[in-house]
Amino acid sequence: ANEEAAARAAAATADTGGPTIFDKIVSKEIPSSVVYEDDKVLAFRDINPQAPVHVLVIPKVRDGLTGLSKAEPRHAEILGQLLYAAKVVAEKEGLANGYRVVINDGAEGCQSVYHLHLHVLGGRQLKWPPG
Ligand code: AMP
Repeated sequence: ANEEAAARAAAATADTGGPTIFDKIVSKEIPSSVVYEDDKVLAFRDINPQAPVHVLVIPKVRDGLTGLSKAEPRHAEILGQLLYAAKVVAEKEGLANGYRVVINDGAEGCQSVYHLHLHVLGGRQLKWPPG
């Protein structure tokens, strides 16, 4: 698991500020399995699920939010909308016994896509601490 984390960290792309694969998911250029959508937020299933339920919640417009560490006061509203959408997703997915919401930030956080996203994970007993 340590080697996996190290490999992930090494493979993690830098925050270039350029477009990411999530732009193509928002524009539907790349297909995704959408779980929830409103005018500001899109939630879709992770292509490499780490739990029976693994959904990513993203802002449709990145507006500089490559990661949480880039948040500015103007992002406070969308940050709240994303967190609320995570709760709606968990409810829709039937995670009544609990779930986890994760944001990976930067290289040491193992972030790989530089378009802010919340991971909603559940459907099994999760462990603590995470790796
Ligand atoms: P992170 O490592 O926190 O940046 O998370 C990025 C997530 O995006 C990973 O869990 C990937 O499995 C997921 N991912 C990458 N490409 C796609 C895609 N085309 N559709 C759905 N999920 C994706």
